[in-house]
Amino acid sequence: MDDSFPHNIAQVAEWLHHADSVAVMTGAGVSAESGIATFRDAGGLWEGHRPEDVATPQAFQRDPTMVWRFYNARRSQLLQCQPNPAHYALAQLERDCANFCLITQNVDGLHRTAGSRNLIELHGDIWIDRCWDCNHAQRVDKVSAEPIPACPKCGGMMRPGVVWFGETLPPGAINDAQAAAARCEVMLVIGTSSMVQPAASLAMFAAQAGAKVVEINPQATPLTHSADLVIAEKAGTAMPAILEAIEES
Ligand code: NAD
Ligand code: ZN
Repeated sequence: MDDSFPHNIAQVAEWLHHADSVAVMTGAGVSAESGIATFRDAGGLWEGHRPEDVATPQAFQRDPTMVWRFYNARRSQLLQCQPNPAHYALAQLERDCANFCLITQNVDGLHRTAGSRNLIELHGDIWIDRCWDCNHAQRVDKVSAEPIPACPKCGGMMRPGVVWFGETLPPGAINDAQAAAARCEVMLVIGTSSMVQPAASLAMFAAQAGAKVVEINPQATPLTHSADLVIAEKAGTAMPAILEAIEES
């Protein structure tokens, strides 16, 4: 079997070209080329913190100022980051496809900035503030000067709108993601270690429903052996090449 890069790119482009419905699942790897460390690359630490110290409801209850300091540092970093060619290629693929859904585990908002619209953010969005008490949510675009932002509705503590360890996913998100996985003819799985559930099971769900599953990741993952095709390349190289091949077909 020819599993060279150009051959695989051409094969995925052909599948996408003929598909009425496409689903994409992305993880931290799709943002790596934007300068955002993946969980794995950081040795399982986020900026030197153990996740359970900063990314749990218990941590927030214990020390909301420390948790906000951590998230404000992440927001400040993100303000320096731009979408990369993979984010832009996915936004273009959406415009070219009748039925397209992008499911992401990322909280960085770069897919939205790049122009993706039909987006399911399984783990929330770091650019949302949500009230700990009354659940009021609002989009923000800069780092708050307050140590703990106050809710404009009830005066309670605002928290970042991300899903923390031990919390459930946003209502409807997993159902919508499963529906997209079940109806797609092609699913691209890009830059995820495929180890976090239930996100990891979506590819299996798509495969069982008859979709072609394509993994784009320079490293092998638990999904690699069951994917229909693997492109062992960086997302920022593979995605624009796929788009170009579709446009030429
Ligand atoms: P992960 O860190 O566990 O795995 C990242 C994967 O991306 C790895 O398999 C790696 O080989 C691959 N990768 C690295 N560079 C790549 C590139 N240029 N192109 C394609 N693939 C590349 O990430 P995960 O599977 O998303 O799970 C980690 C959890 O951490 C998620 O729940 C996510 O919410 C969170 N997280 C989010 C961000 C973000 O929003 N950008 C960053 C770090 C962690
Ligand atoms: Zn409130």
